[in-house]
Formats: sequence, C-alpha cells, structure tokens
Amino acid sequence: MSRFADVIIDITHEKVDRPFQYRIPEALKEQIFTGCQVDVPFGRGDRIRRGYVVGLSDTPSYDPAKLKEIGQIHGGSVSAETKLIQVAWWMKERYGSTMNQALKTVLPVKQQVKQQESRWLCCNVGHEALLGQIEEAARKKYRARERLLRAFLDVERISYEVATRQLSVTSATLKPLLEQKILRLEASVCYRDPARLLLAGRTGEQGGRVRLNEEQQQVVSSICGQYDEGIRRTYLLHGITGSGKTEVYMGLIDHVLEKGEQVIVLIPEIALTYQTVLRFYRRFGEQVSFINSRLSAGERYDQFQRAQKGELQIMIGPRSALFTPFRRLGMIIIDEEHEGAYKSETMPRYHAREVAEYIASLSGASLVLGSATPSVESYTKALQGVYGYYKIAKRAKKDSVLPKVQVVDMRRELKEGNRSIFSRPLQRRMEEKLEKGEQIMLFLNRRGYSRFLSCRSCGEAIRCPHCDVTLTFHQDGRLICHYCGYQIMRPWACPVCGSPYLAPFGTGTQKIEAQVREAFPKARVLRMDLDTTSKKGGHEKILTAFADHEADILIGTQMIVKGHDLPAVTLVGILAADLSLYAPDFRCGERTFQLLTQAAGRAGRDERAGDVVIQTYSPEHYCIAAAAAQDYEAFYQKEMEYRRLLRYPPACVLMTLLVGSPKEELTGMAMELVQASIERTLKKAGEEAGIQMIGPVNAVIYKLNDIYRKILYMKSENYAILIQIRDRIEEGLKGQDWSDQIIFQFDLS
Ligand code: ADP
Ligand code: ZN
Ligand code: ZN
Repeated sequence: MSRFADVIIDITHEKVDRPFQYRIPEALKEQIFTGCQVDVPFGRGDRIRRGYVVGLSDTPSYDPAKLKEIGQIHGGSVSAETKLIQVAWWMKERYGSTMNQALKTVLPVKQQVKQQESRWLCCNVGHEALLGQIEEAARKKYRARERLLRAFLDVERISYEVATRQLSVTSATLKPLLEQKILRLEASVCYRDPARLLLAGRTGEQGGRVRLNEEQQQVVSSICGQYDEGIRRTYLLHGITGSGKTEVYMGLIDHVLEKGEQVIVLIPEIALTYQTVLRFYRRFGEQVSFINSRLSAGERYDQFQRAQKGELQIMIGPRSALFTPFRRLGMIIIDEEHEGAYKSETMPRYHAREVAEYIASLSGASLVLGSATPSVESYTKALQGVYGYYKIAKRAKKDSVLPKVQVVDMRRELKEGNRSIFSRPLQRRMEEKLEKGEQIMLFLNRRGYSRFLSCRSCGEAIRCPHCDVTLTFHQDGRLICHYCGYQIMRPWACPVCGSPYLAPFGTGTQKIEAQVREAFPKARVLRMDLDTTSKKGGHEKILTAFADHEADILIGTQMIVKGHDLPAVTLVGILAADLSLYAPDFRCGERTFQLLTQAAGRAGRDERAGDVVIQTYSPEHYCIAAAAAQDYEAFYQKEMEYRRLLRYPPACVLMTLLVGSPKEELTGMAMELVQASIERTLKKAGEEAGIQMIGPVNAVIYKLNDIYRKILYMKSENYAILIQIRDRIEEGLKGQDWSDQIIFQFDLS
C-alpha cells in the first residue's frame, strides 16, 4: 500500500504544472487510486484546493517531514476529467512520456476564446427559386456559383469563411448574388461555432438517410444487438472501398444516441473534407461537432466544454478527438483504422487505436475499427477472435463494381523502346477517357521520395546543413528541407567543386504535370502535392474544383487517395507502384498494398466501369499482385509469413530505442550505456527471454535538427521484459551528469 501520492492541482483553472507530493493519511490508504479526486491544502495559506492523484509511491521525493497530508477523497461518480487523467497516466507508462506531456495531450488547456464576429451568407429566396438559380448557373457553366447555391439546399446559413475557403467562392462570384438579393450577408457574434464548420439551419433527420443494404444492415443489427445485451468489445469492419462503411457507422451512431450515450468518430485529417463533414451534419444536425488541427487551443477547449455539458452527442475529428470528455461515452469509431496518421509523432508517441481501446474499456464503450485494408495487427486480432469481425464484400451503390486492374511491367516497356513515364496501355486508356469526357487520376507513389539538386561533375547532392538529408528542389528555384523547413535559393555552381552542371534528380509531381501537358495538350490538368496544398484549405479547393469537373486529370501523391467521392473518375493510373516498396521500414510492404488498393478503389464509383493501370518494375511482388487482384487475404498470408520469419510485429514485440545529442560523442557514450544496461538485464533473465538485439546503428537520418541520433532494436515475444529493460535504461541515463544533454526515446510496436 502506497504511502505517498503525487497530486496535480486544479488543472482546469490553471495551466498544467508539475505534480506535488502529499502524504496519504492512514484512513485513506485503501481508497486512493490514480485518477481519483482529492482535497489538499495548497500554497502558503494552505487553502484547500481540488486535485487529482496522478501517481502513487512508497518513497518520498522530498523531506517527508515537510510533506502535507491529503484532506479527503471525493467519492461519487468518476468525472470525465478524472477518466482522462487515468488515460494520461496509462499513456505515460505505455509510451514513456512525462506526466506533463501526457496531460497536455489529453486535457486541452483552457484559453479565452475570442468572441469573434462572423459573417454569414443567408439565402433570401425560396426553394423553387433556388432550384431555378442553380439550373441557370449550371447552364451558364458558372461552376462556383452553382456550387455555392447548391450548398443552400442543405443549410440556411453558411459562414463567409466556409464559402470562400472551402467552397472556393470569390467575391466576384458573390457580388452579383448579393446585388440581386438572392443571398444576403449577416453579421452576428458567433460564440462557439461548431468547429469551423459554421453551417447553421436545417438539422438532421430529414437529410442524408439511405436504406441500408442487406450486408450493411446485418452488421448494424449484430453490433446493436450485442450492445443492447451489454456487450462492449472491439469490432473490425472490413469493407471494400465504396462498400458503404460510413452508412454503417451512422446506423450504429443512431442506436447509441437513442440509448442516451455519446460517440467519438475518428477520421484521418486528410479525409475530413467539407463533403464528409456535411454528410454527418445532414444526418445528425447540431448534435455533432468537429475538431481539426487548425483550431486554436481555445476553440478546441470550447468544443470539449460543450461536450462535457451535454450539448453535443457526437464528436468527429482526427486522433485528438479521442479526448473529448463525454459523460457517457457509448462508442468510438475509427475510420480507416490502418492509417499511419493515427500514430502521434510527438511525445507521447501514442497510437490512437491503442488509446481508444483503453478509453473504451474505462468508459464501458464499444470500439469499431473500419477499413478496406485493415492493418495487419487488427486483422490478426480478428482472426484470433479478440475482435469481432464483419466483412462487406460488395460495393454499396447499385451497379457499382470493383474496377478492372491491369498491371504493366515497365521493364518490358523500356525494352521495347518506350522511355516515357506513361506505358502504352496507360496512354491508350487516357486517350479513350478524355475522348469520352471522363476523369482521370494519376497517382505518384512517392512516399519518402524527393527531387534534389545534384552535381553532374562530382556527384555531390545539395544537403540541409542541419539534417542529414538532401534538400528538395522546387520549380520556383528554392531548395527546401522537408524535415526542418530550412530553405535557400538554388545555387548556380556546385558548392563542393564549383562546377556549373547542377541538375535536378528524381521524378516529382511537377515533372509529371509537365509531361502530361505535353502528351495531352488539350486536357485540363490539376496537381495536388505539398506545394499546391500548403495554403489553408488548398487541399479542399483542388478536390472541389476537380469534383466540379473543372479539370480532366488530377495528378497527386497519397493525398488524392482520400477525401471526396468522385463518381466521374473512371481511370486511375498508378505511375510508380514500387517506389514505396523498398523503404527502410518493415511496414513498407503493407503501406504499399494499402496505398495501391485505396488508390485503385477511387476508380469507377459510379455505374460507369472503372479502369486501373498499375505501372511497376516488380509485377511479381506479392504486395503489387495482391493489390491488383484486390485480394486482401492473399496479401495478409504472405505478409504474415514474412513477419513471422523475420520476427516483426504482430508476430513479435519490437522495441526501438533512440538516443540523441547535439554532441556526437555523447550520443556514442549514451548508446554504450544502453548496451551495457541491456546486457546486465539479459544475464539475469537468462537465455529463455528470447530477446534479439539489432544494432546499434545510426538513424536513417543520422543528424536531424542538429541532433546526432543512434538507434537500437530489440525483439521479443515477452512484452514485460522489454518494459523492464527500458525502465532500467532510463534510470541509468538519468544518473549521468550529462543527462540533460541527451534525449532518450523509445517506441513499442
Ligand atoms: P466507404 O466509406 O465504405 O468507402 P461510403 O460510405 O462512402 O463507402 O459509400 C460509398 C457510396 O455509396 C456513397 O456515395 C454512399 O452514399 C453510397 N451508399 C452507401 N450505402 C448505400 C446504400 N445502402 N444504398 C445506396 N447507396 C449507398
Ligand atoms: Zn560538384
Ligand atoms: Zn533540415
């Protein structure tokens, strides 16, 4: 039984600070637990303040005589906040962050939300007149006007911001509409706007309801049936692209809301487009709110307050929406559960799927994971019966079938004299579709691939002075480091040998755009990549323009895989399918399969048959073959063979340890300490621990932001022993007098 407790004081009212240690009185020893609320004397006047226990220990960190004693425990129901503190504690232990980092992740910091005046566009005319106006705009091909007016079929007011940013409507478009009094502009103080959605008026119920097909209905009935029996567990919904998973989610949400409980829906940020948001809004109206990364801390806090007060029933957002403090959380849904974006890249490096499982178990909620290409981890758990499993194998829309896929061997193209980036079959198909006025998406798979400037004389590439990577060359002449943001104008002579023969290397979307324009001079082309979408709402604008058929061809990277339903796209061309196959990451095969399957799934979402052309240098590779055949099971079997053979997760637990320092020699010293510590533990644990150590090696990017980094991998079936090793290492490093000059991070997968 612990004698001391670490208590965080009154976090809602002050900025999250460090915990303070208190003595636990004899009488309370049995009742105290991490996360419980307590009253404690605080400050000079020993004013009684509310606090939360975040840790328990047997040893005092300060002179025990000076420690104050906990006053009393607040019993009763566990508040949403207490629950989140328990979550923070769990995250700290699981991911090795500090309690402060974990608390900052789960509890939004209170900040004054600026009372901003917002401007709203309102529709002045009735339904019939509106339809007439839409028709006229369509006839005259006023795309933006049509798009804006159509939005008023669903809602009564649209914020000026949504209209200009998300619907890409310019003031030139607005002016005549306002002058003719078809629309009017209203100003109002908008406190608590539903997370930048800024739509108001007609709410749910009447809109957006489709009749579920048999497969969809079976899933909904089965999960709801279990829900009513009080069963709470994790389900994997494996539905092919276009199978109508979103409709299934909405059916489930309906049921949970009827029971008076709330729902959190996670959607990867990139798929959180205006279209997706509107779909939920139509169905559920003002019970739903959204957050995204563009909200300020204050705005996010405000959304969470509304949830806590019971004004909201559904929260939709990227991974941080998990921490919405609902009072009675009934279900968490994670769409596209395989997405890499669910893993946080900053401390604590948590995976939303794991945290969701923990939060669901704490709250008595069910968790639904949905994907067309489930992660190997989740599918394994489904096969083992840990997760409930449902499969939807048909597309939802009548007559919509999976596209025909053709794999083209680019080695043969080259042998037969075709040096262009387009294979002959792809070129032929593109011509056909353009002739018919149908749309084309060209997908360049270039994860971790960039275009850089190199010297033809000495072979040297131009690198970032802070990070050990090449600078990416942009058409406007800038060289940019995509890790730290460092940028310079391109030099005209090699900085190493002075040669003037500097030339760009590698294939980027810009180059493809130039080649498309050359080969198809009449086609209208849009390009979507980091450069064209860096401005706020850029991603949305391009997709909207393409959905409105303002272009025939859309060229892009992984970004084009997600987002809008684009029914007029009947051809998807995948230009370099294998580019991501040889990345230094054991998940690269899985990522390749997922990207190709999802990209292919964009074709033919309508009655018109879709075609997919996959261009590759390794047509025999199982990831490519399985993606072409849209055969998940075949992919999974092969992938698991590989993971078992090489002992990668989920066949094994993999722990990655990273040490780094701005001083190269300290990185070396720290890594030696790490190795020594591991060897000591292994000697004690004996051979049977089954631990395999790989490395240490320099990180792929050895110097990043002026920090030198080394990595060591450990594999074992035994999770507990890896945690033990990690804790010992951490202790050992903390004991060094140079410990403040090194970083130590670990990752478990
Ligand atoms: P997924 O998320 O599985 O890719 P969506 O939920 O986006 O699929 O649905 C794909 C398309 O099929 C959407 O346009 C949706 O409106 C439509 N759809 C879904 N379910 C049905 C249904 N039961 N009847 C008719 N259309 C449907
Ligand atoms: Zn040179
Ligand atoms: Zn850099």
